[in-house]
Amino acid sequence: MYDVILRQGRVIDPKSGHDAIADVGFAAGKVAYMGASCPGSAAQEIDVTGLIVTPGLIDLHTHVYWGGTSLGVDADAFSRRDAVTTMIDTGSAGAGNFPGFRKHVIEPATARILVLLHVSFAGIYGFSKRVMVPEGQELRLFSAEDCVETIEANRDLIVGVKVRIGRNASGTAGLLPLEIGLQVADRVGLPLMCHIDFPPPSYADTVALLRPGDILTHAFRPFPNAPYHGAAGHEKVRDEVWAARQRGVIFDIGHGMGSFSYHTARIMLSQGFAPDTISSDVHALSQFGPAFDLTTSLSKFLALGVKIQDVIAAATTAPAAAIRRPDLGHLAVGGVGDASILRLAEGSFDLVDVEGEHIMAEHRLLAAGMVMGGKICVSP
Ligand SMILES: [Zn+2]
Repeated sequence: MYDVILRQGRVIDPKSGHDAIADVGFAAGKVAYMGASCPGSAAQEIDVTGLIVTPGLIDLHTHVYWGGTSLGVDADAFSRRDAVTTMIDTGSAGAGNFPGFRKHVIEPATARILVLLHVSFAGIYGFSKRVMVPEGQELRLFSAEDCVETIEANRDLIVGVKVRIGRNASGTAGLLPLEIGLQVADRVGLPLMCHIDFPPPSYADTVALLRPGDILTHAFRPFPNAPYHGAAGHEKVRDEVWAARQRGVIFDIGHGMGSFSYHTARIMLSQGFAPDTISSDVHALSQFGPAFDLTTSLSKFLALGVKIQDVIAAATTAPAAAIRRPDLGHLAVGGVGDASILRLAEGSFDLVDVEGEHIMAEHRLLAAGMVMGGKICVSP
């Protein structure tokens, strides 16, 4: 007897290479059956013929400290609408306001929220349409000691360190906020995610500092501070970018409102440089476009010619590996009972990037349903 059986969906599990029509059964919060035809019965049996079943989607770059920060969106509403079972909040909170995030948002949420803690004591505190304060410039807030203490006390939820550098996020502070972040990450033995925006500092100088396992988000941003250089028609992926990939730095999309351009993506993909992870950077100012959500970000890569199996991997196995949570992001008997149910819709879909370039796509992924902890959370 199962709690839930999803019958006859196209089950794509990148970790095992599985891509076939199958049944997936859930019992006691875990995946209990995966195969051609589940012989048992369940309290809830759902025919998902024509739909895609994937491991629970993981959005590696979100802002969900709703109410505690001006940029936060409501985690459960976003999760249910977009079939994202795990959201990584990237730096909304710092040591000074993490306890409220934990108690008022993360613990009551149905969705799984994991955290990259900002080195800035107050997190990202001045981010709205009219108020935009670069927290990285206020170095009095960069207390490595407090950040380490908070991480040590909350290792069940905190999976890494976040820092934001660039003219918008750290003003004139240069690489110093990143250097402090790296010291913290070293002390706690966790990865660091670095945001990059306008120079200075340069893309090359920034990526050169990242260690194996660290994550560069906004990796496919437009000029200036793009991952390529050279005149129009002769662009080349920067040597520092290739070197960083070689040593194991992770390149994340983090679409957001200003950080993903088709032009950059085409150059990168044509030279064999696909992103490691695809994330939305959903926040108060990007949720109504151009980022919208994770399935929209994934659909943009489908439209650029990336295979669906690779697109799904970039939002399941790859982010799970990046946050060192191999229990998440795959479907296997005995494993975490999270699954996303998606529809690969056919038609004509207008997908716009941050530079205002529109692609009319023939396919796009849409959220259809979601299983969390072995229970139907959103019915398809
Ligand atoms: Zn962000």
